[in-house]
Amino acid sequence: MTTPRSWLASAQDSPFGVHNLPYGVFTAADRPGHRRIGVRIGESVLDAGAAARAAGEPSVLLDADTLNPLLGAGRSAWTRTRAALTHWLTDESFRDALSPLLLPVAEVELHLPFEVADYVDFYASEHHATNLGRIFRPGSDPLTPNWKHLPIGYHGRAGTVVVSGTPVVRPHGQRKAPADAVPSFGPTRRLDIEAEVGFVVGTPSTLGTPVTLGDFREHVFGVCLVNDWSARDIQAWEYVPLGPFLGKSFATSVSPWIVPLDALEHARVTPPARDVEPLPYLDDRGGEPWGLDLAMEVRLNGHPVSRPPFASMYWTAAQQLTHMTVNGASLRTGDLFASGTVSGPAPETRGALIELTWNGEEPVKLPDGTTRTFLEDGDEVTITATAPGPDGAVIGFGEVTGRVAP
Ligand code: MN
Repeated sequence: MTTPRSWLASAQDSPFGVHNLPYGVFTAADRPGHRRIGVRIGESVLDAGAAARAAGEPSVLLDADTLNPLLGAGRSAWTRTRAALTHWLTDESFRDALSPLLLPVAEVELHLPFEVADYVDFYASEHHATNLGRIFRPGSDPLTPNWKHLPIGYHGRAGTVVVSGTPVVRPHGQRKAPADAVPSFGPTRRLDIEAEVGFVVGTPSTLGTPVTLGDFREHVFGVCLVNDWSARDIQAWEYVPLGPFLGKSFATSVSPWIVPLDALEHARVTPPARDVEPLPYLDDRGGEPWGLDLAMEVRLNGHPVSRPPFASMYWTAAQQLTHMTVNGASLRTGDLFASGTVSGPAPETRGALIELTWNGEEPVKLPDGTTRTFLEDGDEVTITATAPGPDGAVIGFGEVTGRVAP
């Protein structure tokens, strides 16, 4: 089926054409402080709740100040809502009624689009895990014995997930370099990024009932970009034996647009070959695996420093969701789980500064003549991504950006 064309000129050949239609939450000057659901189309944001009313199909799911009611309504409601939006934005007869409800994207303020329930972060790039193993455990096997048997993850702090553009205050904490006899307290000296992809859960699950690989699309509503800010010195001192804690929990930034899973059918690819056979509940061979071909870019103060390929991830989001619930743990509407740092095989595709600079030994050069090992106050990091859409179209994810505040 070819995608219909929108009557909106800026949607033609746009990464935000009718083949994408990501959801967000915005405020605008016409109704200050009033949060509304917006759908990105071309260079505009459609006031979705008002559009539904104007089209004669009022929707309590779109007339909301967060995406949570829509997320919780389940896959059939997602499909219906997406079909309605596509209809309104492609059928010429809606042009007059909907045109006044399109706001220039530059004139709206975008907010955290959903209330984050639980937040889990994984560690699914073999290249990233191998690089970190080489840096932190030289001389031993870079991958831990469990790595190819299960998607490693930890529960993060949902309350500090912030929307793109929120300043990231340099965290304080205990730091101890290997040569130090005792820890000291102060601002982190090794503030880093992790370029990741986030998956937003819509449909909850029942406590005690695992979610199978085949149920992935029933539960996952959409995809966003994530920057898992990391204080490497705090992390290195605290993480043994229970894993990441204060070196991660100070802030996690997400992009404001949630790209529906339905927009990513053309981006699906076979994951890399696994050289260890997974246990049956994680075995996606013979099914329809959820590798996704997102081309990511990381910019530091506007300068591209990395282009991580999401298609290279060893574990898929479907395997992560299945593993996360295999013990019977239930999902809630608004759960967010992130892929883990996306790093490809080549040095210029590594998704964190600790890898790009090899633990600070090989600084990154910037066009202004300065170099970076880790982030300095005032630095701004932006992660963007695109994916293949239908008929040669491109799916845009927008960006997740953040500036380091002292
Ligand atoms: Mn991470």
